[in-house]
Amino acid sequence: MNHALMNITARPDQLFLRGEGSWLWDDRGRRHLDFVQGWAVNTLGHAPACIREALARQSALLLTPSPAFHNAPALALAELLCRNSDFDQVFFTNSGAEANEGAIKLARKWGQLHRGGAHEIITFRDAFHGRTLATMSASGKPGWDRMFAPQVAGFPKAVLNDLASVQALVGPDTVAVMLEPVQGESGVHAATPEFLQGLRALCDRHGLLLVFDEVQTGIGRLGRLFGYQHFGVVPDIATLAKGLGGGVPIGALLARQRACVFAHGDQGGTFNGNPLMCAVGLSVLHEVLADGFLARVRATGEHLGDRLQALSDRFGLQGVRGIGLLRALDLGRPLAADVAAQARTGAGLLLNAPRPAVLRFMPALTVTAAEVDLMIDGLAASLEAVGIGS
Ligand code: PLP
Repeated sequence: MNHALMNITARPDQLFLRGEGSWLWDDRGRRHLDFVQGWAVNTLGHAPACIREALARQSALLLTPSPAFHNAPALALAELLCRNSDFDQVFFTNSGAEANEGAIKLARKWGQLHRGGAHEIITFRDAFHGRTLATMSASGKPGWDRMFAPQVAGFPKAVLNDLASVQALVGPDTVAVMLEPVQGESGVHAATPEFLQGLRALCDRHGLLLVFDEVQTGIGRLGRLFGYQHFGVVPDIATLAKGLGGGVPIGALLARQRACVFAHGDQGGTFNGNPLMCAVGLSVLHEVLADGFLARVRATGEHLGDRLQALSDRFGLQGVRGIGLLRALDLGRPLAADVAAQARTGAGLLLNAPRPAVLRFMPALTVTAAEVDLMIDGLAASLEAVGIGS
C-alpha cells in the first residue's frame, strides 16, 4: 500500500473498522478473534460501554484545562491507584515509554539527593522499556545498542533470574535496578519470586531503588491489579500504561513516599494528566476492581495456559510460559510469523509473534473460556496449515 504514513512496520492490507469485545471487523466485512488487543492494551476488549460513556461524559465537560491546573479525574485516578497499591503519589504520562523515562529521571534525581550523584540503573538483557532514546538504552533488545548511537549512558545489563549478575554490576554509581516482572516483548519470560525477593533484599542492602516496569504486567494482566502483587515484592517505583487506558493513551509513574523527589520544574508535559484520558482510566480501574473481576482473569488465564499446554503436547512444541492472561507458546522452530499470518488469513484469528519461534497471547481481560477454546481451534488449524502436524 502506498500512502502518506511513514513505513515503520509491515502491516496487512485491510483496514480495521470496528471492534466489540474480543472481536474486530475489517473493511471486507470479516470478523477476527483478537488475541492481540491493541498490543495488550484493551483491558475490557474493544469499545466497552464504560469507556464510551466516560469519553462522552468527560468530553462534554472539560478536555484540557492546563497541565498547571488541577482537574477532578486526575486527582480521583491518582487516589484510586494509590489506595489499591503501595504507592503514595502518581505522575500521569501519555505512554509507557514516557512513564519509564520519568522513572529514570526520578531515580537519577533521587541519586543526586541521596546517593552523592549516583546515576546508573541496572537493567536487563532482552528487556523492553520503550522507544525514546533513554528507554531504548535501558532496553536490552539485541542490536538496539547500535541503532541510534550513541546511546544514553548508564544502563549496565544484568541477566534475568541471575542475582549474581546484578550483584556484580553494583558500584558507587549505581542508584537503582529496573525490570519488567515478566519480560513481555522478549517472548514472555517471568522473573521468579525468589529472584525478585533477592533483588529487593539486594536493593535494601545497598540503598538502591527497585523499579518495576509494569507497562505490560499492570492493571490485571497477571490476575492482580499490579504484577508485583502476584510476586509479593514491593518496588519503590512502578510504571503503568497499556491497560490503564483500556485503549486510549495514558500511562503513569507511581512512587513510594521516599522516592517522590521531583521538585517544581523537574517533570511535566502538555497533555499529562488531562481529564479526558484520566476519566477513561478511572472507568477502566473501577471495572477491574469490581468484585470477582480479577478472580475471573486468574481462572481464564489458567484455562488459557492449560489449553495451550495441551496443544503444545499434541504438536510436540516447546511448551508454554507466562502468568494470567499474558502467555507465550514456544514453537521450537522459527515459524511464529508464518503461523500468525496463516491464523489471520485462514482462521480469522489475530495473534502476535514477538520472537521468531514464539507466539504471544494477550487477549482482553474479559475474554471468555469459550473464546479461548475458539482461539485454540483456530491456532491448531493454523499450525497444521504451515506444516507443524499433530
Ligand atoms: N515497557 C514495556 C514492558 C512494554 O511492553 C512497552 C510496550 O510494549 C513499553 C514499556 C513501551 O510502552 P509504549 O509503547 O506505550 O511507549
